[in-house]
Amino acid sequence: MSGLNEDRALADLRKLAMFGKVGRGVNRPALSDADIAGREWLCDRMRECGLEAGIDGVGTVYGRAPGAKATVLLGSHSDSVPMGGWLDGALGVIFALEVARARQARHPSGAVGIDVISFSDEEGTFLACLGSRAFCGLVSNDELASARSSSGEYLVERLDALGLAQRERTEFDPTRHRAYLEAHVEQGPKLIEAGVDIGVVTGIVGLRRFRVRFQGQADHAGTTPMAMRRDAAAAMYAFAVLVPEWLRTASSSDSVWNLGVVSVKPGAANVVASEVELVVEFRDVSQATMAQMEAAFAMLVAERNEIGGVSVHAEPIGAVEPTVMDDGLVTHLEAAAVAEGASRLRLQSGAGHDAMIVGRRAPAGMLFVPSIGGRSHDVTENTSEEDIRRGLRVYDRAVSSILESLDLAGPRVP
Ligand SMILES: [Zn+2]
Repeated sequence: MSGLNEDRALADLRKLAMFGKVGRGVNRPALSDADIAGREWLCDRMRECGLEAGIDGVGTVYGRAPGAKATVLLGSHSDSVPMGGWLDGALGVIFALEVARARQARHPSGAVGIDVISFSDEEGTFLACLGSRAFCGLVSNDELASARSSSGEYLVERLDALGLAQRERTEFDPTRHRAYLEAHVEQGPKLIEAGVDIGVVTGIVGLRRFRVRFQGQADHAGTTPMAMRRDAAAAMYAFAVLVPEWLRTASSSDSVWNLGVVSVKPGAANVVASEVELVVEFRDVSQATMAQMEAAFAMLVAERNEIGGVSVHAEPIGAVEPTVMDDGLVTHLEAAAVAEGASRLRLQSGAGHDAMIVGRRAPAGMLFVPSIGGRSHDVTENTSEEDIRRGLRVYDRAVSSILESLDLAGPRVP
């Protein structure tokens, strides 16, 4: 018996959802009062089961197994998007807590153990994946100093106001943290549509983001003949229609893209648009596919430049590399699903996660449970209780088998 207590975990999930509760969802942006109260509550739960717990210098909660020399790091994030779902992040944190709690009860000071983490600001209120990036040493002091919320508040000011700024930051320790395993709601419809219980994540997509500038000339929209216009908006609309056509030729069946931001200047019905900005992003799990899409996009920009007297330039404004999940952990997760009699599907994650960051330092794995209707980043997000319970059992089994395979002398999971 592992000592796993599903009812206790469900009760804790519901308790965590009380912090910033809005309907079924939560409004718990990173470092808000509700977020910090939830994190203090988490620290208390971790201490109760014997972990050494605290909130660090960026707001990450870390619970350390005392006495352990080698650990599996378990967790996710407990901040939410504004008006977000009750399970996004929280599910992974409570699964981690419950599995660690069950282990602590049996092996309170084993040489091999479980550390639990709830990373700060995964959702990017100030800086996306702040906690996991800080943990992995992948954030610069300049980025920290300039990070601001949409309301204009600086991250460093907020940390200072909370009394966290002077605290140390939890750091990844390669001799201690041998693997990272994160459970999460799928946030998409693949599992629920396929009627499958468990998603085993093979990789997390990378993304490329470009700001495309169309420069034309402002003119009177009533008096300027059509043939004489240098209409930046018309150029952008024609371009936007072509983006999917060009990307599709270079993409995989899982690639996705979005044209989510447009700004038109001067932005008046009676003035021909002089300047337009369009933000385009695309995502895929394969580095090679992303490079092909990038090349196709650059060719489209070159082809449309100077048509109708409008110049077109694309500037890269964001790039995240895809992360491949560790093969050994994928195998542990699949074996755990089989042992629980759960159906399973290998899939890639179209959303970013802390595992994407930690995966650059340590072997990382992710388990998904189905999201009802594929809904997420909204208060309506939900997962059936049956799926939550099954997901917890599979996760617990996988962690047990990983712990059994941990070699104190070796650096990696076999
Ligand atoms: Zn999340």
